[in-house]
Amino acid sequence: MAHNTGLVCHERYFWHDAGSGAGFSEVNPYAQPDRHPESPDSKRRFLALLEVSGLADELTRIAPRLATPTELQYFHTPAYIDRVAAISAAGGGVIGDSATIGPGSFDIARLSAGGCIAAVDAVVTGQVRNAYALVRPPGHHAESDQGRGYCVFGNAVIAIRHAQRALGVGRVAVVDWDVHHGNGTETAFLEDPSVLTISIHQDRHYPTDRGQLSETGQSAGAHTNLNIPLPAGSGHGAYLAAFDQAVLPALLRFQPELIVITSGLDASAMDPLGRMMCTSATYREMTQRLMAVADACCEGRIVATHEGGYSNAYVPFCGLAVLEALSGRRSAATDPYLEELMSMAGHDVLPHQQSVIDAAAALVSEIPAGR
Ligand code: ZN
Repeated sequence: MAHNTGLVCHERYFWHDAGSGAGFSEVNPYAQPDRHPESPDSKRRFLALLEVSGLADELTRIAPRLATPTELQYFHTPAYIDRVAAISAAGGGVIGDSATIGPGSFDIARLSAGGCIAAVDAVVTGQVRNAYALVRPPGHHAESDQGRGYCVFGNAVIAIRHAQRALGVGRVAVVDWDVHHGNGTETAFLEDPSVLTISIHQDRHYPTDRGQLSETGQSAGAHTNLNIPLPAGSGHGAYLAAFDQAVLPALLRFQPELIVITSGLDASAMDPLGRMMCTSATYREMTQRLMAVADACCEGRIVATHEGGYSNAYVPFCGLAVLEALSGRRSAATDPYLEELMSMAGHDVLPHQQSVIDAAAALVSEIPAGR
Protein backbone atom coordinates (compact mmCIF):
# COMPACT_ATOMS: atom_id res chain seq x y z
CA MET A 1 0.00 0.00 0.00
CA ALA A 2 1.21 3.46 -0.81
CA HIS A 3 2.31 5.64 2.08
CA ASN A 4 0.49 8.90 2.66
CA THR A 5 3.45 11.15 1.99
CA GLY A 6 5.39 11.38 -1.24
CA LEU A 7 9.04 12.32 -1.67
CA VAL A 8 10.58 13.55 -4.90
CA CYS A 9 14.36 13.61 -5.20
CA HIS A 10 16.97 12.70 -7.78
CA GLU A 11 20.76 12.39 -7.71
CA ARG A 12 20.99 14.78 -10.65
CA TYR A 13 19.62 17.63 -8.51
CA PHE A 14 22.95 17.57 -6.68
CA TRP A 15 24.91 17.97 -9.92
CA HIS A 16 23.73 21.51 -10.67
CA ASP A 17 26.86 23.64 -10.26
CA ALA A 18 26.33 27.30 -9.37
CA GLY A 19 30.08 27.95 -9.47
CA SER A 20 32.05 29.66 -6.72
CA GLY A 21 30.87 32.50 -4.52
CA ALA A 22 31.82 34.69 -1.58
CA GLY A 23 29.00 34.75 0.94
CA PHE A 24 26.10 36.30 -0.93
CA SER A 25 28.45 38.39 -3.07
CA GLU A 26 30.02 37.62 -6.38
CA VAL A 27 33.72 36.93 -6.14
CA ASN A 28 35.72 40.14 -6.69
CA PRO A 29 39.41 41.05 -6.35
CA TYR A 30 39.01 41.35 -2.56
CA ALA A 31 36.24 38.80 -1.89
CA GLN A 32 38.07 35.50 -1.88
CA PRO A 33 36.39 32.71 -3.83
CA ASP A 34 34.58 30.24 -1.60
CA ARG A 35 32.08 27.48 -2.13
CA HIS A 36 28.85 28.90 -3.51
CA PRO A 37 26.22 29.19 -0.74
CA GLU A 38 23.69 27.33 -2.91
CA SER A 39 25.71 24.12 -2.93
CA PRO A 40 24.32 20.57 -3.00
CA ASP A 41 25.54 19.83 0.53
CA SER A 42 22.58 20.83 2.71
CA LYS A 43 20.10 19.11 0.40
CA ARG A 44 22.16 15.94 0.05
CA ARG A 45 22.49 15.77 3.83
CA PHE A 46 18.72 16.33 4.17
CA LEU A 47 18.10 13.29 1.97
CA ALA A 48 20.78 11.35 3.87
CA LEU A 49 19.07 12.03 7.20
CA LEU A 50 15.72 10.90 5.79
CA GLU A 51 17.41 7.64 4.85
CA VAL A 52 19.46 6.95 7.99
CA SER A 53 16.57 7.94 10.27
CA GLY A 54 14.41 5.35 8.54
CA LEU A 55 11.75 7.91 7.60
CA ALA A 56 12.49 7.49 3.88
CA ASP A 57 11.19 3.91 4.19
CA GLU A 58 7.83 5.33 5.26
CA LEU A 59 7.53 7.63 2.23
CA THR A 60 6.33 6.95 -1.30
CA ARG A 61 9.13 7.79 -3.71
CA ILE A 62 7.86 9.75 -6.69
CA ALA A 63 10.01 9.91 -9.81
CA PRO A 64 10.60 13.37 -11.26
CA ARG A 65 10.41 14.08 -14.98
CA LEU A 66 11.62 16.88 -17.23
CA ALA A 67 9.25 19.83 -17.45
CA THR A 68 8.32 20.33 -21.11
CA PRO A 69 8.91 23.58 -23.01
CA THR A 70 5.17 24.23 -22.87
CA GLU A 71 5.17 23.80 -19.10
CA LEU A 72 8.16 26.14 -18.67
CA GLN A 73 6.20 28.69 -20.69
CA TYR A 74 3.42 28.58 -18.13
CA PHE A 75 5.63 31.21 -16.47
CA HIS A 76 8.75 31.97 -18.48
CA THR A 77 9.30 33.79 -21.75
CA PRO A 78 10.57 31.71 -24.69
CA ALA A 79 13.58 34.04 -24.97
CA TYR A 80 14.60 33.35 -21.37
CA ILE A 81 14.16 29.58 -21.73
CA ASP A 82 16.29 29.63 -24.89
CA ARG A 83 18.94 31.71 -23.12
CA VAL A 84 19.21 29.27 -20.23
CA ALA A 85 19.48 26.37 -22.68
CA ALA A 86 22.20 28.11 -24.69
CA ILE A 87 24.27 29.16 -21.66
CA SER A 88 23.95 25.68 -20.17
CA ALA A 89 25.07 24.07 -23.45
CA ALA A 90 28.03 26.46 -23.63
CA GLY A 91 29.29 25.31 -20.21
CA GLY A 92 27.46 27.68 -17.90
CA GLY A 93 27.34 31.35 -16.96
CA VAL A 94 25.19 34.15 -15.59
CA ILE A 95 21.43 33.96 -16.24
CA GLY A 96 20.28 36.93 -14.15
CA ASP A 97 20.70 38.71 -10.82
CA SER A 98 22.70 36.45 -8.45
CA ALA A 99 21.92 33.47 -10.64
CA THR A 100 24.60 31.36 -12.27
CA ILE A 101 24.36 27.94 -13.89
CA GLY A 102 26.85 25.29 -14.88
CA PRO A 103 27.08 22.78 -17.70
CA GLY A 104 23.90 20.75 -17.99
CA SER A 105 21.95 22.96 -15.61
CA PHE A 106 19.16 23.52 -18.16
CA ASP A 107 18.03 19.90 -17.97
CA ILE A 108 18.57 19.75 -14.19
CA ALA A 109 16.38 22.83 -13.78
CA ARG A 110 13.78 21.22 -16.03
CA LEU A 111 13.96 18.13 -13.79
CA SER A 112 13.55 20.39 -10.74
CA ALA A 113 10.38 21.98 -12.14
CA GLY A 114 9.21 18.58 -13.38
CA GLY A 115 9.77 17.09 -9.92
CA CYS A 116 7.36 19.65 -8.50
CA ILE A 117 4.88 18.81 -11.27
CA ALA A 118 5.19 15.11 -10.38
CA ALA A 119 4.53 15.90 -6.72
CA VAL A 120 1.40 17.85 -7.65
CA ASP A 121 0.24 15.00 -9.88
CA ALA A 122 0.66 12.49 -7.04
CA VAL A 123 -1.25 14.63 -4.53
CA VAL A 124 -4.05 15.84 -6.77
CA THR A 125 -4.73 12.38 -8.21
CA GLY A 126 -4.83 10.92 -4.70
CA GLN A 127 -1.76 8.68 -4.95
CA VAL A 128 -0.53 10.34 -1.75
CA ARG A 129 -2.08 12.83 0.67
CA ASN A 130 0.85 15.24 0.62
CA ALA A 131 4.35 15.40 -0.86
CA TYR A 132 7.74 17.07 -0.48
CA ALA A 133 9.75 17.84 -3.61
CA LEU A 134 13.39 17.97 -2.49
CA VAL A 135 14.51 19.63 -5.70
CA ARG A 136 17.38 21.82 -6.84
CA PRO A 137 17.94 24.40 -8.25
CA PRO A 138 15.35 26.37 -6.25
CA GLY A 139 12.66 28.52 -7.86
CA HIS A 140 10.87 31.16 -5.80
CA HIS A 141 13.05 34.12 -6.82
CA ALA A 142 13.02 33.37 -10.58
CA GLU A 143 11.17 35.93 -12.67
CA SER A 144 9.52 35.26 -16.01
CA ASP A 145 12.45 36.64 -18.01
CA GLN A 146 15.49 36.11 -15.78
CA GLY A 147 17.00 33.95 -13.07
CA ARG A 148 17.33 35.54 -9.64
CA GLY A 149 18.70 34.61 -6.23
CA TYR A 150 20.14 31.18 -7.21
CA CYS A 151 16.82 30.27 -8.88
CA VAL A 152 16.46 29.21 -12.51
CA PHE A 153 12.82 28.30 -13.19
CA GLY A 154 9.80 29.08 -11.01
CA ASN A 155 9.22 25.50 -9.88
CA ALA A 156 6.17 26.17 -7.72
CA VAL A 157 4.61 28.57 -10.23
CA ILE A 158 4.93 26.01 -13.01
CA ALA A 159 3.56 23.20 -10.82
CA ILE A 160 0.57 25.33 -9.77
CA ARG A 161 -0.23 26.21 -13.38
CA HIS A 162 0.00 22.50 -14.18
CA ALA A 163 -2.47 21.75 -11.39
CA GLN A 164 -4.88 24.31 -12.80
CA ARG A 165 -4.51 23.62 -16.51
CA ALA A 166 -3.90 19.87 -16.62
CA LEU A 167 -5.68 18.67 -13.48
CA GLY A 168 -8.58 21.08 -13.14
CA VAL A 169 -7.62 22.52 -9.77
CA GLY A 170 -9.12 25.94 -9.16
CA ARG A 171 -7.96 27.87 -6.13
CA VAL A 172 -4.41 27.38 -4.86
CA ALA A 173 -2.64 28.97 -1.91
CA VAL A 174 1.12 29.35 -1.58
CA VAL A 175 2.79 29.67 1.81
CA ASP A 176 6.41 30.77 1.39
CA TRP A 177 8.33 30.39 4.67
CA ASP A 178 11.77 30.84 3.12
CA VAL A 179 13.64 33.61 5.00
CA HIS A 180 13.77 35.57 1.74
CA HIS A 181 10.74 37.08 0.03
CA GLY A 182 9.08 34.90 -2.62
CA ASN A 183 9.26 37.61 -5.27
CA GLY A 184 8.99 35.37 -8.32
CA THR A 185 5.91 33.56 -7.06
CA GLU A 186 4.35 36.86 -6.03
CA THR A 187 4.98 38.38 -9.46
CA ALA A 188 3.53 35.38 -11.26
CA PHE A 189 0.20 35.56 -9.43
CA LEU A 190 -0.01 39.24 -8.52
CA GLU A 191 -2.98 39.86 -10.83
CA ASP A 192 -4.48 36.37 -10.48
CA PRO A 193 -7.41 35.95 -8.06
CA SER A 194 -7.20 32.14 -8.25
CA VAL A 195 -3.90 31.97 -6.33
CA LEU A 196 -3.40 33.37 -2.83
CA THR A 197 0.30 34.02 -2.25
CA ILE A 198 1.56 34.43 1.32
CA SER A 199 5.21 35.14 2.09
CA ILE A 200 6.57 35.29 5.64
CA HIS A 201 10.15 36.49 5.52
CA GLN A 202 12.87 38.63 7.04
CA ASP A 203 12.05 42.28 6.36
CA ARG A 204 13.99 43.77 3.43
CA HIS A 205 16.44 40.91 3.13
CA TYR A 206 16.40 39.64 -0.47
CA PRO A 207 15.21 41.22 -2.65
CA THR A 208 15.55 44.29 -0.42
CA ASP A 209 12.93 46.23 -2.37
CA ARG A 210 10.19 43.57 -2.25
CA GLY A 211 7.94 41.89 0.27
CA GLN A 212 6.28 44.83 1.99
CA LEU A 213 2.87 44.72 3.68
CA SER A 214 1.55 47.29 1.19
CA GLU A 215 1.76 44.85 -1.73
CA THR A 216 -1.57 43.05 -1.52
CA GLY A 217 -2.17 42.16 -5.18
CA GLN A 218 -3.14 44.09 -8.26
CA SER A 219 -6.16 44.49 -10.59
CA ALA A 220 -8.15 41.23 -10.65
CA GLY A 221 -5.74 39.79 -8.06
CA ALA A 222 -6.36 42.56 -5.53
CA HIS A 223 -6.13 41.31 -1.93
CA THR A 224 -4.79 37.87 -2.90
CA ASN A 225 -1.20 38.58 -1.86
CA LEU A 226 -0.14 38.76 1.78
CA ASN A 227 3.37 39.71 2.88
CA ILE A 228 4.51 39.32 6.49
CA PRO A 229 7.93 41.02 6.69
CA LEU A 230 9.10 40.05 10.18
CA PRO A 231 12.02 41.96 11.71
CA ALA A 232 15.41 40.25 11.80
CA GLY A 233 15.73 38.21 14.99
CA SER A 234 12.20 36.81 14.95
CA GLY A 235 11.95 33.30 16.36
CA HIS A 236 9.64 30.43 17.26
CA GLY A 237 7.03 32.59 18.99
CA ALA A 238 6.83 35.24 16.27
CA TYR A 239 6.52 32.70 13.47
CA LEU A 240 3.78 30.72 15.22
CA ALA A 241 1.95 33.92 16.17
CA ALA A 242 2.11 35.03 12.54
CA PHE A 243 0.69 31.67 11.53
CA ASP A 244 -2.10 31.69 14.11
CA GLN A 245 -3.09 35.31 13.62
CA ALA A 246 -2.54 35.90 9.88
CA VAL A 247 -1.49 32.89 7.76
CA LEU A 248 -4.10 30.39 8.94
CA PRO A 249 -7.02 32.84 8.99
CA ALA A 250 -6.04 33.93 5.46
CA LEU A 251 -6.05 30.34 4.24
CA LEU A 252 -9.35 29.51 5.94
CA ARG A 253 -10.92 32.58 4.37
CA PHE A 254 -9.59 31.82 0.87
CA GLN A 255 -10.47 28.09 1.03
CA PRO A 256 -7.81 26.73 -1.36
CA GLU A 257 -8.16 23.38 -3.12
CA LEU A 258 -4.41 22.83 -2.81
CA ILE A 259 -1.74 24.33 -0.53
CA VAL A 260 1.81 24.70 -1.83
CA ILE A 261 4.61 25.40 0.64
CA THR A 262 7.68 26.99 -0.92
CA SER A 263 9.87 25.49 1.74
CA GLY A 264 13.06 27.38 2.38
CA LEU A 265 14.77 26.17 5.56
CA ASP A 266 16.91 29.29 5.87
CA ALA A 267 14.88 30.98 8.63
CA SER A 268 16.65 28.74 11.13
CA ALA A 269 18.85 30.05 13.91
CA MET A 270 21.84 28.34 12.31
CA ASP A 271 21.50 29.67 8.78
CA PRO A 272 24.49 31.64 7.46
CA LEU A 273 22.35 33.85 5.17
CA GLY A 274 19.27 34.46 7.35
CA ARG A 275 18.99 36.34 10.63
CA MET A 276 16.02 34.55 12.15
CA MET A 277 15.75 32.16 15.12
CA CYS A 278 13.51 29.31 13.92
CA THR A 279 14.22 25.73 14.96
CA SER A 280 13.11 22.32 13.80
CA ALA A 281 10.24 22.68 16.29
CA THR A 282 9.09 25.82 14.47
CA TYR A 283 9.05 24.03 11.13
CA ARG A 284 7.27 21.04 12.67
CA GLU A 285 4.55 23.19 14.22
CA MET A 286 4.10 25.36 11.12
CA THR A 287 3.65 22.18 9.08
CA GLN A 288 1.14 20.73 11.54
CA ARG A 289 -0.86 23.96 11.46
CA LEU A 290 -0.97 23.97 7.66
CA MET A 291 -2.05 20.32 7.70
CA ALA A 292 -4.98 21.17 9.96
CA VAL A 293 -6.08 23.85 7.51
CA ALA A 294 -5.55 21.53 4.54
CA ASP A 295 -7.66 18.88 6.28
CA ALA A 296 -10.43 21.45 6.71
CA CYS A 297 -10.22 22.93 3.17
CA CYS A 298 -8.87 20.41 0.72
CA GLU A 299 -8.62 16.84 1.96
CA GLY A 300 -5.13 17.42 3.29
CA ARG A 301 -3.59 18.28 -0.07
CA ILE A 302 -0.17 19.88 0.50
CA VAL A 303 2.81 19.98 -1.84
CA ALA A 304 6.08 21.39 -0.51
CA THR A 305 8.79 22.51 -2.93
CA HIS A 306 12.29 22.90 -1.52
CA GLU A 307 13.81 26.38 -1.76
CA GLY A 308 16.70 27.87 0.27
CA GLY A 309 18.53 26.64 3.36
CA TYR A 310 22.27 26.96 3.76
CA SER A 311 23.22 25.41 7.10
CA ASN A 312 24.71 22.05 6.27
CA ALA A 313 24.30 20.98 9.89
CA TYR A 314 20.75 22.13 10.46
CA VAL A 315 18.78 21.98 7.20
CA PRO A 316 18.52 18.17 7.54
CA PHE A 317 16.85 18.37 10.98
CA CYS A 318 14.45 21.14 9.94
CA GLY A 319 13.56 19.16 6.83
CA LEU A 320 13.14 15.94 8.78
CA ALA A 321 10.71 17.73 11.11
CA VAL A 322 8.63 18.87 8.13
CA LEU A 323 8.49 15.36 6.71
CA GLU A 324 7.77 13.76 10.07
CA ALA A 325 4.84 16.14 10.43
CA LEU A 326 3.57 15.57 6.89
CA SER A 327 3.74 11.79 7.30
CA GLY A 328 2.50 11.71 10.88
CA ARG A 329 5.44 9.56 11.92
CA ARG A 330 8.39 10.11 14.24
CA SER A 331 11.71 8.65 13.21
CA ALA A 332 14.46 7.47 15.52
CA ALA A 333 16.45 10.64 14.90
CA THR A 334 16.26 13.54 17.34
CA ASP A 335 17.48 17.09 16.72
CA PRO A 336 20.77 17.40 18.66
CA TYR A 337 20.68 21.21 18.48
CA LEU A 338 17.07 21.79 19.51
CA GLU A 339 17.39 22.09 23.27
CA GLU A 340 20.20 24.63 23.09
CA LEU A 341 18.57 26.64 20.31
CA MET A 342 15.25 26.78 22.16
CA SER A 343 17.09 27.87 25.33
CA MET A 344 18.45 30.93 23.58
CA ALA A 345 16.68 34.26 23.93
CA GLY A 346 14.67 35.44 20.96
CA HIS A 347 11.72 33.06 20.90
CA ASP A 348 9.15 35.24 22.66
CA VAL A 349 7.13 37.62 20.49
CA LEU A 350 8.46 41.14 20.90
CA PRO A 351 6.33 44.29 20.42
CA HIS A 352 7.96 45.34 17.13
CA GLN A 353 7.34 41.84 15.77
CA GLN A 354 3.74 41.78 17.00
CA SER A 355 3.03 45.10 15.27
CA VAL A 356 3.93 43.56 11.90
CA ILE A 357 1.77 40.51 12.66
CA ASP A 358 -1.12 42.80 13.66
CA ALA A 359 -0.79 44.74 10.42
CA ALA A 360 -0.81 41.52 8.39
CA ALA A 361 -3.77 40.14 10.35
CA ALA A 362 -5.70 43.31 9.60
CA LEU A 363 -5.43 42.55 5.86
CA VAL A 364 -7.05 39.13 6.12
CA SER A 365 -10.62 40.43 5.99
CA GLU A 366 -9.84 41.97 2.58
CA ILE A 367 -9.02 38.59 1.04
CA PRO A 368 -11.85 37.37 -1.21
CA ALA A 369 -13.71 34.60 0.62
CA GLY A 370 -13.85 31.28 -1.17
CA ARG A 371 -16.78 28.88 -1.42
ZN1 ZN B 1 15.99 31.84 0.92
